[in-house]
Amino acid sequence: MKTIGLIGGMSWESTVTYYQVINETIRRELGGLHSAKTLLYSVDFDQIEKYQASGEWDKSAETLSDAAVRLEKAGADFIVICTNTMHKVAPQMSEHISIPIIHIAEATADRLKEQGITTVGLLGTKYTMTQEFYKAKLTETGIRVLIPNEEDVETINSVIYDELCLGNIRQESKSKYLAIIDKLADKGAQGVILGCTEIGLLVQQEDTDLPVFDTTLIHAEKAALSSIDD
Ligand code: GLU
Repeated sequence: MKTIGLIGGMSWESTVTYYQVINETIRRELGGLHSAKTLLYSVDFDQIEKYQASGEWDKSAETLSDAAVRLEKAGADFIVICTNTMHKVAPQMSEHISIPIIHIAEATADRLKEQGITTVGLLGTKYTMTQEFYKAKLTETGIRVLIPNEEDVETINSVIYDELCLGNIRQESKSKYLAIIDKLADKGAQGVILGCTEIGLLVQQEDTDLPVFDTTLIHAEKAALSSIDD
């Protein structure tokens, strides 16, 4: 079995889900007392968030590259960055390590393709929704990506940082998210990507008729399956 190198803490609320889903997947696949071989480097998210807000992506790239190098030295066979947003610096991180990074948007694009989705709504941080680093991974494969309007982008983003990353799950925010998902469906989305690793704490498949693609579950499952030797 390969060793998974997780870079977590962004936020730790969703890193918990990664650990659980990875181990549940290993148990489902291998049975008995099998569990995943994992290393976790969990950062202080306060620092990362400050770098994001001030646009200092090079500094967060340094911090996360250092984490990746440490995980490689400790024996990780591949890296899993437990956040969508920080995949913005995945290309810089790759330059410092010789092991692969399992990209969350590529794993999600594969899942969308499997299910025949050609137009999808994307929810995530404002960086993920409005910048190209993430959407390009989907559009490159021929998938059309719809994002909410400006006001809804702000709503989605502030719920992530001011509530979900602090473990605060509010019914009122769930209703706002579901209304935004409905608007994306009206615009033609055949599914919605929960493109922030905390959104699954608020919205799940049973809350909407639109097919939901929860990136935390997709990424964690891909990590677990990738760790099982052929
Ligand atoms: N976990 C979130 C994501 O998947 C947001 C936190 C972050 O900025 O990394 O994008």
